[in-house]
Amino acid sequence: MSVIEIFKRISVYVKPYKWLVFATLMLTLIGSFMAQVNAIVLNYTVDSINALVTAGKGLAEGLDILILISSVLLGKELMIILVQFGQKFFGQKLKICISQDLAQEVIERVLTYRLAFFTKSGNEPGKLQTRIDRGVESLTRIVQNFFIDILPLFCSAILALVLMFKQNVYVGTVALVIVPIYFYITYLQAHKLKGWRTQHKDFREAKSHGIMTILESITVIKSFNREQIEGKKQLELQKNITENQLKTRQTSFFFEGVKTFVEQIGVVLIIILTAFLVLNGDMTIGAIMYHIMLFGNVTSPTRQLHRIYDDFNDALIYANGFFEILDAGTEETEKSGKHRPEKIRGEFELRHVDFTYPNGTKALHDINMKIESGKITALVGLSGAGKSTIINLLDKFYEQDCGDVLLDGVSLKDWDTQYLRDNIGLVLQKNHIFDGTIEENIRYGNVDATDEEVMEAAKKAFLYDQVVALPNGFKSKATELSGGQQQRVAIARMFIKNPPIIFLDEPTASLDAIATEQIKNSIDAIKQNRTVIIISHSLSQIIDSEMIYSLEKGRVMEHGTHEECYAKNGVYRRIFDASARSLNIEKIAKTQMGV
Ligand code: ADP
Repeated sequence: MSVIEIFKRISVYVKPYKWLVFATLMLTLIGSFMAQVNAIVLNYTVDSINALVTAGKGLAEGLDILILISSVLLGKELMIILVQFGQKFFGQKLKICISQDLAQEVIERVLTYRLAFFTKSGNEPGKLQTRIDRGVESLTRIVQNFFIDILPLFCSAILALVLMFKQNVYVGTVALVIVPIYFYITYLQAHKLKGWRTQHKDFREAKSHGIMTILESITVIKSFNREQIEGKKQLELQKNITENQLKTRQTSFFFEGVKTFVEQIGVVLIIILTAFLVLNGDMTIGAIMYHIMLFGNVTSPTRQLHRIYDDFNDALIYANGFFEILDAGTEETEKSGKHRPEKIRGEFELRHVDFTYPNGTKALHDINMKIESGKITALVGLSGAGKSTIINLLDKFYEQDCGDVLLDGVSLKDWDTQYLRDNIGLVLQKNHIFDGTIEENIRYGNVDATDEEVMEAAKKAFLYDQVVALPNGFKSKATELSGGQQQRVAIARMFIKNPPIIFLDEPTASLDAIATEQIKNSIDAIKQNRTVIIISHSLSQIIDSEMIYSLEKGRVMEHGTHEECYAKNGVYRRIFDASARSLNIEKIAKTQMGV
């Protein structure tokens, strides 16, 4: 992305605040004019006092001058306080507002993206977060540079140069010659640092991602006593950052030193030249200080150029990543059709479906499947067979590579995505519990539900008794519940949603035996007249299903009722027999019969 492109894109965000920009700019301009006052006053003071001294006059005659300069200087300082307050306040307001707009827009956009976007490499949570944070941060800084800092900086420098030239062409020329050298060194410095800054961005993203991974897997790390290994991994990442920072600082300090030296050469040249001109009678003595101060006004804004240049480079690096997220737009935004029938029968059909995840894993091969309305269909297969992937396609989280997925005879791509998901209840093995109360978490399934409906859903999910026993009841924090209880919150969430289609992806895997039985009963109660797809390793849930599809390595191997599939003597039978053996059914039966 070029500077011009960034400028164009940022302008869109600045436009609503153009009056704020105008006000800040005006105040900053006034400030830069005022910055010259000290030099002028000093020139006047030295010359006037020098004239008085030369004429043999004393304090009585000089008092007027002192009163005048004190009033001018103090008056100027008072005005500067006001001007700077306004300038800083408006400038900050502009930055804060634009940063809010950028952050909000990117989040709103990201929320509309399909799941494939989040599973792409480079879009891991920690990396995305850094790209968003740093993007917003550096783009806001660019707003400050583009719209607030640059013009007044140049005005101040040019004004000081004009004043120098007006007083004396030679002194002005010395200042003018120094400035391009200064610019060139600044350019070299920024150029040298650019590569390292890009590298720094990559290291920071990797580091953020690393920290997030540690926090997410802290229990596993601790249970395997892998704290040291994880610490070492982080040290490697940190070392890269440290090395990079040291190199950057070293180079910066070197160039800063060179720039100060060049500036000092300028100061020395100006002192020599002005002193020569004073001695030659071409200048008054006050002009020495006057010129040195003006030269300071020329170099100090140019000194800031380096910061602006750095900010630009940062923005170029981070803006790319940031706008990439925004621009993923049309390609990554979930597609939606318009189909919203009044009633959904709930009959799915997959025709010759192939599916590959964004990372290249081909998860489904030529899947043909019919999921009948109002019935329970079980997907059976070893881990990694593709069962969850099928649910991902039916929920329109991903789109198949080829073939078609239909609901009630209409291709899913023609369905209104939100409407479709409004009519599907999804319970996963591990359901996300949001930071909030139990009540809020259940109500996530239907934000308009009444308190009675929330209680009713909790009762159906066999959660009610346990929740009312808590000191804060339904107002307790949901994240403090046990894994099994959280699972019931998720099931209550589905009850309150009350959808005609239900997908259960190992819903009882993290529950104890009693809870599993209770949940099974309540699922049995609501499955009437609904389409239910269940993925489960629980034999009882599989046997109860009216249709079974057994999968292996992304292909359907058998389908039919339990008896039909079992008779085929294939994958299903292998899995079923192994599950039965693992249950030690013989011994269980003996115990049950009281033998
Ligand atoms: P199952 O539910 O039968 O255990 P999945 O449908 O989860 O199996 O996975 C099928 C295949 O797809 C596996 O090889 C798995 O590694 C792969 N897979 C699952 N989810 C993703 C993902 N988000 N990105 C890439 N590959 C995935």
